[in-house]
Amino acid sequence: MEKVQTVRGTYDVYGSQKRKMKKVIKTASEVVEKYGFEEIETPIFEFTEVFARNLGDTSDIVTKEMYCFSDRGGESLTLRPEGTAGVVRAFISEGMQQNLPVKLYYAGPMFRYERPQKGRQRQFTQFGCELLGVETPQADIEVIAMAYEFVEKLGLQGSVTVEINSLGDKESRDAYREKLVAYLKGHYDSLSADSKERLEKNPLRVLDSKEECDKAIVAAAPLYRDSLNEASKMFFENVLKGLDALGIKYRVNDRLVRGLDYYSHTVFELVTDKLGAQGTVLAGGRYDGLVSQMGGGEVPGIGWACGVERLALLNDEEMGKPRPVAVIPLGEDTAEMALKIAYQLRLAGFPVEQSYSGNIKKRMIKANKANAYKAVIIGSEELAKGVVTIKDLESGEQKEVALDNIVKEVE
Ligand code: ATP
Ligand code: MG
Repeated sequence: MEKVQTVRGTYDVYGSQKRKMKKVIKTASEVVEKYGFEEIETPIFEFTEVFARNLGDTSDIVTKEMYCFSDRGGESLTLRPEGTAGVVRAFISEGMQQNLPVKLYYAGPMFRYERPQKGRQRQFTQFGCELLGVETPQADIEVIAMAYEFVEKLGLQGSVTVEINSLGDKESRDAYREKLVAYLKGHYDSLSADSKERLEKNPLRVLDSKEECDKAIVAAAPLYRDSLNEASKMFFENVLKGLDALGIKYRVNDRLVRGLDYYSHTVFELVTDKLGAQGTVLAGGRYDGLVSQMGGGEVPGIGWACGVERLALLNDEEMGKPRPVAVIPLGEDTAEMALKIAYQLRLAGFPVEQSYSGNIKKRMIKANKANAYKAVIIGSEELAKGVVTIKDLESGEQKEVALDNIVKEVE
């Protein structure tokens, strides 16, 4: 017998949490659709290389978090740990370069083998969007504005800050890398074992280390901004100017780097003080080299993704189901009419709970439990006269209503 429980770090989502997550996704979709984004659904698993080659071979995701498996045909496949690589893969394989810009959004499960804790799961849901084909700062501004609007719409505006930084173009990154390596070599003995290895393979990754011994060293590391060339500085200034113009509050965070290899220029996170250690609810950046690295043309891109569970956790108001109308038949000869009335009410847009069994008392208790605001009670004698009883479950008031007027009365 299999164990009757979920795998560690995975959860059944239902009830209030499911409703909250749906609201997060609905709010996000409505906002990004106003900006012209269209939904895309890519497969939940891809060839392992799609992630392994493009997220960076020293990133946390690739080194220790991917769920890889070989299928029966011997292909190495991976459950997607994030959305961008799959969307860019689709952009290339579907030939979408023909008609730029391309604006896509997605929502769905992601899989990472992490140490589970509050706000950190092994299967979690991301909503994300990608804008491909725009190289100017307008794209950065618009995409950040969109994220901000979305988070505001969720009612979190008071607790959220946009943290932003620039990693610059390739020339700036190379210059920075050199300075950083020189600095880190001076502290080699105090680095964690992982970071000693990163120093060889991908020194920028040390900046993203979560080890305490590395954090102290990183705190005094050279700053990106001192290595940005003129073009990169100008780009960043224009992004900030645009955010100012829109009245979006941000904080330049010199220490913000993103964990994946493909970022350049703008990187940003929306951070809240409400969730303790897992305070980042949305993160993104520009990835101008990714499409060409994956074998497409020189197409710039920028996007973000948010953790839907984490955003749902922030919404502490209890989300109930919409209040239904209870339809209560009394006696067997009224069951068919009850079905008809429930059907009519639903067609007119009302949520309806039919009662299926029990005496009138039991049925009324059920109606109250379902949080119904009105009950349509159908008795045989009334039905013979062409009427039903409608009871207001708040005030207790009740009256007889002709069959034709039920929908009107419920309104
Ligand atoms: P962290 O530094 O917290 O590990 P990350 O850089 O790995 O975050 P991203 O890959 O940028 O996160 O993912 C974007 C968002 O997805 C995060 O800001 C977070 O809200 C959410 N997220 C990431 N990993 C998890 C997880 N294991 N469980 C739940 N949500 C997650
Ligand atoms: Mg992570």
